[in-house]
Amino acid sequence: MPAIRPLTDTVPCGTTPPVSPGDAPAAQTGVLETRAAAPLRMRACVLREPGVAPAVVWVELAPPRAGEVLVRVAAAGVCHSDAHLADGQLGPGRWPMVLGHEGAGVVEAVGAGVEGLVPGDHVVFSMVASCGVCEACRSGRRTLCGPVGARSVAGRLADGTSRLTGADGATLQHGLTVACFAEYAVVAAAAAIPIPADVPLWQAALLGCGVVTAFGAVAHAARVHVGERVAVIGCGGVGLQAVSAARLAGAATIIAVDRRPEKLEHALRRGATHAVDASAVDAAAAIVELTGGGVDHAFEVVGSPATIRTAWDALRPGGTAVVVGLAPAGVEVSLPAIEFLSEKSIMGSYYGSADPVQTLPGLIELVRSGRLELADMVSHLIELDGVPAALDRLRAGEGDRSVIVLDPELAGAEASPAP
Ligand SMILES: [Zn+2]
Ligand SMILES: [Zn+2]
Repeated sequence: MPAIRPLTDTVPCGTTPPVSPGDAPAAQTGVLETRAAAPLRMRACVLREPGVAPAVVWVELAPPRAGEVLVRVAAAGVCHSDAHLADGQLGPGRWPMVLGHEGAGVVEAVGAGVEGLVPGDHVVFSMVASCGVCEACRSGRRTLCGPVGARSVAGRLADGTSRLTGADGATLQHGLTVACFAEYAVVAAAAAIPIPADVPLWQAALLGCGVVTAFGAVAHAARVHVGERVAVIGCGGVGLQAVSAARLAGAATIIAVDRRPEKLEHALRRGATHAVDASAVDAAAAIVELTGGGVDHAFEVVGSPATIRTAWDALRPGGTAVVVGLAPAGVEVSLPAIEFLSEKSIMGSYYGSADPVQTLPGLIELVRSGRLELADMVSHLIELDGVPAALDRLRAGEGDRSVIVLDPELAGAEASPAP
């Protein structure tokens, strides 16, 4: 277990004291306005092109425009999507880019017209700052927001432009519209979801992607009910949260599947009732045997044809496979079509299948009441230059979450030097 050294249980006020409207000292307001008005020079982890390790370089960040906020990043989680982007698996044209979409920080300045956020607010990044007016948004499916999807692929903010410029003058993309592997981030105000200041930011960093994704897949996509049987295939950062979500939803049977014994042990500590080592047995056959016919819901959290097929084969008649794992572009899956006779279903779930603005407050309360553990998900606290090694761990399936500590005082934890 790598050393993790939280400084405190709660986040100190740090270098950016909370400021409420009306009580900001003049001098401080001046500082914030200056920050908001001039470009910042900052360190960021930039993906130049796939196959070349992302590197920490100096970049320039322009001030927030109308409807945007400048956030001092405290901590950021390294997610499998970052590895996919770094490997060029999410399609062409996704570089050069400042990586990072899962993180937390403190609002430093707000652009014109921003309501509900003030400097000093602690926030979690959301990569779906939905528009609210497109067809998907109007039908209540905000994670499928059309404009956000297009901006996410283009690495641009809402007005179609970027605030990020490299030292060579080239425009840099905002990774999945967030770009939080950097000391600061300018994001849409709707992409900065306020949270109480007593949740340590090195833990809160996980909420905006891995936790929202896993809990939403269980609660909003599958709608797991009390007493149901569930399998979670792949016990990485998202899969382990899916185990917790299934436990909190009241699933009677939770079967964790992975090829690494330490991940299975972690899943059992989080509430899995059974563990299946997919390196030793046919996982689907084991699940069917354990449940006397298959599970009601199988969550695939790997993103490969083999594990998607395992999820399908593990279902009982009428069951649903929920594909949460992100497969590289071009990957196809085949299923035995005759089994649709048994009313099995397969569905995707993106980013929790619900508006994170609505779902995050409930998750925060679970964290604050101690019923949702975040700290035990973090296997490595790293510095910004530790991203390539963290991506290698993800590719190899080693460890749980790596969290980059950008600002130890704000984050409430220090990074361990790279081994
Ligand atoms: Zn992610
Ligand atoms: Zn929309």
